[in-house]
Amino acid sequence: SIVTDLPRRSGGPLTATGLPRTVAHEIGVPTVHRTVVDIANFDHGATTPALVAVKEAVDKVSPTYGSVHRGAGFASRITTAWFEEARAEVGRFVGARPGDEVIFTRNTTDALRLLAHALPQDAQVFAWQSAHHAALLPWPAEHTTALRVPGSVQEAADLLRTALTAADPQAPKLVVLTGACNVTGEVWPVRELAFIAAQFGARVVVDGAQLVPHRAVDLDDLGADWIAFSGHKMYAPYGAGALVGRADWLDAAEPYLPAGGATHTVSGDGIQWHTGPARHEGGTPNALGAIAIAAACVTLARHRETVDRHEEALATRLRDGLGQIPGVRIVAALGADRPNVGVVTFTVDGWDSSLVSQVLSDEDGIAVRDGRFCAHLLCDTVVGQSAAAVRASLGLATTPDHVERLIAGVRRLVTSGS
Ligand code: PLP
Repeated sequence: SIVTDLPRRSGGPLTATGLPRTVAHEIGVPTVHRTVVDIANFDHGATTPALVAVKEAVDKVSPTYGSVHRGAGFASRITTAWFEEARAEVGRFVGARPGDEVIFTRNTTDALRLLAHALPQDAQVFAWQSAHHAALLPWPAEHTTALRVPGSVQEAADLLRTALTAADPQAPKLVVLTGACNVTGEVWPVRELAFIAAQFGARVVVDGAQLVPHRAVDLDDLGADWIAFSGHKMYAPYGAGALVGRADWLDAAEPYLPAGGATHTVSGDGIQWHTGPARHEGGTPNALGAIAIAAACVTLARHRETVDRHEEALATRLRDGLGQIPGVRIVAALGADRPNVGVVTFTVDGWDSSLVSQVLSDEDGIAVRDGRFCAHLLCDTVVGQSAAAVRASLGLATTPDHVERLIAGVRRLVTSGS
């Protein structure tokens, strides 16, 4: 089933009985003091509730799990099998090619940091300043060219071509691409930019954190060498993510976490490290996290069209509805006509964004995100210097009623302030 566990919150004065809140929860409170509010979830860009299918997958393995790749005991063997099946499933989900590696990490931040760790010493990196900080900051500063925030697809392509033309033709090169922007929701022209990178022999890594939950992804089709993403943004829990792609730089690098699991043998003569995913998965891995991501991958892939249609319809209505409210400015970078993953970020004239977010939350039970979204340079350009905005990011826990509630909430706010 694709249906999510919709988040519910207990509203009303739970402590009206005079009991501490936790105790009141346990023993119950008079219903007259208790309402259950369906939160309108517009914060999928930050994190997503787990799918029922994900919960079931974790429940299924929970009674028997053991530590993976640790001995021949039954629990270890069976968990190892589940873990490796999960690896294969995650690889299939993004079109991993024969020889590609799927390395489980903590999240996208960790996956991109791992690739930065594996860069050849003389590699040059090219990244747009519009990237999320997780994709902008892990690279060695002295070898990184930061391309300014582009105002169009054409400008993004021109900036890349110019920078690569000026680069040392002999040096290994890496272009860091945003799959979908966490501030504007715009889907980046990955294929087109990867094509330019390939003309200069540069490799490509895609920050897939916002793309993977909302679009079918295939590494070859994108022309990408690696993709990084997070389980908790694709309806699995926190704490697990993945880096998927070419093995060579990764196998040549020192282990990311030099420890048990990464070692083949340690003897008086020295250490032999594993190659393959184990090289960078030192320590006991998050097997339940990997199983959860794999379940999300299978479920999302099976229902891709339904999910896309659902999100597209809601996003169109939301964009239209908010766009018609005077004083509401919707943020774009590459252009308002770019395909979008269901993110509408906006400011309201005369209103502080954190106040908008707080009023929507407290008066209407609407969860949005306000701030600068770990993309400060992009926000400086598209929102305003040091300015914040409100982000509504929809997904499977968003309903048509929620969309109407958000539009009405913002409209009321604007009317009340005028
Ligand atoms: N990249 C993008 C585009 C994101 O939106 C995020 C998180 O919001 C990240 C990277 C970092 O993801 P995580 O915090 O799961 O590492």
